[in-house]
Amino acid sequence: MNPLIKLENVSFKYPDTDNFENNFALNDFSLEVNEGEFVALLGHNGSGKSTAAKLINMILTADSGNIYIDGKNIATDDISENEIYDIRKNVGMVFQNPDNQIVATIVEEDVAFGPENLGVEPSQIRERVDEALKIVGMQEYARHAPHRLSGGQKQRVAIAGVIAMKPRCIIFDESTAMLDPLGRKEVMNTILRLNKEENITIILITHYMNEAILADKVVVMKNGSKYLEGTPNEVFSNPERLWRAGLEVPQSVELMYALNKELNTEIPLGVYDFDTCAELIKEKLKKNR
Ligand code: ADP
Ligand code: MG
Repeated sequence: MNPLIKLENVSFKYPDTDNFENNFALNDFSLEVNEGEFVALLGHNGSGKSTAAKLINMILTADSGNIYIDGKNIATDDISENEIYDIRKNVGMVFQNPDNQIVATIVEEDVAFGPENLGVEPSQIRERVDEALKIVGMQEYARHAPHRLSGGQKQRVAIAGVIAMKPRCIIFDESTAMLDPLGRKEVMNTILRLNKEENITIILITHYMNEAILADKVVVMKNGSKYLEGTPNEVFSNPERLWRAGLEVPQSVELMYALNKELNTEIPLGVYDFDTCAELIKEKLKKNR
């Protein structure tokens, strides 16, 4: 099976930075995302995550390398307007600040904006808006003013606007970063539902490790290149590599790492829930007695 999204040795430099050497925003970066997969993209500030997202969505064009969306190479010049339109329709994006993404003064009108722009039949738009609002759990706010909503609710409206365009993949570029813990939880639950129930492919760019551990695959970027890739357990089981890249690790990993040092034990490091952590610690303490 072809991956839905495939970046192959992609490099990109922002045009106004040409006079410097080695300032590629993306440097020989490769990434594969299968249909239905949930991929978390991590990396310190400036590591190239947003640039990668914008290349996939054709907001930017690669300097070299290939980018395949559903088997079609979009990093070539002979791509037609129609094909660009299809790609934008298939790959949606949700950004950090919900206020910048909401355009209308009534929630349902805002959600209708995307499909209207795509030229969807008016009779179908109603249906799509209702369905999208239902998926994000905001149907009872359909007639409300977006600016009166909480951050998490606004972000869910923005997500509904993207869902109403029926994309196969949605890229979330730090979409929970401006939210309070409750809003973050609402949005993460929505993202999980989109992936598990609607089979929408997810690329989640985030700084929160407890969000990244929910993914099928974690890709860590450093200086425009891929630094690590694997399941959450694989990537996080060696915290020192992540600390070297200026990243945090999930709390369970940090706790077990500290314990191993303190007690001179070798509890395998990995992504555990707190009950499992407690169980592992209990076992070790018993043996040490
Ligand atoms: P991230 O999203 O991981 O924080 P970005 O993709 O935004 O990283 O940035 C990658 C690199 O490209 C950084 O060095 C950043 O300074 C540079 N960069 C990003 N946007 C621009 C821009 N519009 N013009 C010039 N350089 C940029
Ligand atoms: Mg960014």
